[in-house]
Amino acid sequence: MLSFRTRIPLCEIAKLDQECDIVTKVTIQKCETLYGWFYDACPCDKKPKYQSNGSLKCTKCDKDVLMTIPKYKVHYKVYDDTGKCSIIFFDRHATELLGKSASKMKENMQEEGRNSTIPKELDEIAGKLVIVKLKIKSHNIKHRTSSIGVTQFCADNNLIKKFKYSNQEESTASTSNIRTISQENVIEDGDNTVSKLTTPPEAYTKQKTLGNDTPIVYEDLGLVEICTPKMNSTKPLKNIKKEK
Ligand SMILES: [Zn+2]
Repeated sequence: MLSFRTRIPLCEIAKLDQECDIVTKVTIQKCETLYGWFYDACPCDKKPKYQSNGSLKCTKCDKDVLMTIPKYKVHYKVYDDTGKCSIIFFDRHATELLGKSASKMKENMQEEGRNSTIPKELDEIAGKLVIVKLKIKSHNIKHRTSSIGVTQFCADNNLIKKFKYSNQEESTASTSNIRTISQENVIEDGDNTVSKLTTPPEAYTKQKTLGNDTPIVYEDLGLVEICTPKMNSTKPLKNIKKEK
C-alpha cells in the first residue's frame, strides 16, 4: 500500500469526482454504533434476503440459507490532520483488527451476560493508527458523509512510519502515471476485492527481488500489472485525467 499510486490525506477525498481506490493514513477515533456492528450472513459472506415465502435466500449462492453466521460490518469514525470521515471494516479486516471473529465476540458477550448490544472491545482500538485502502464509490461521491468501505488495511508500525502521500514522493513518477480506473476489477461487497485478484506470476517474482517484507505491496503491484494491458487496449493513455 505504501506504493499505491493514489495516497492522499482525508481532505482530498472530498475533491474526488469519480469512483476510485485511494490509500490514506488515519487514526481510529471511535466506533459508530448507530449502524450496529454485525450482520447475519450466509457462510459466503453475503447478506441473505427474506423471500416472499418466508425463506431466507442468498442471491450469490442462489440457495436457501438455513443457518446464518454473524459477520462484522463495523463503522469507525477516523481522522487525520486534514479531516474526518467514516469508514467500514468488513468481516475479514475487522476480525484481524479486533483479534477475534464476530461469532466469538457474540459468544463472549453472552458468556459474560453483558446487556449492552455493542461490545466494548470495538472501542478498544480507539487511537490506533492505520493505513487503509478505501474504495470510493459513486454513493460516497454523491453523499459526502457516507461511510467508505475498507478493502485493505495495515497496522504495522514500521510500515506506517514509512508512509508518504503521493505528492511527497515525486521521484517515483514512473508508476504514478499509470492511473487506473479500477471499477471493472472490483467485486461488489468491498471486503474481498484484493483476494479475488490474481497476481500474475511475473509481477510477483519481480517484487520478490525487492526483498520487501510486506505481501500487501505485491497485491498492489499485481493490480497495476493486471490493469495495464486493459489500459493499453482502450487506448490513449494521455487522455486519462491526471489527479492533482
Ligand atoms: Zn451465499
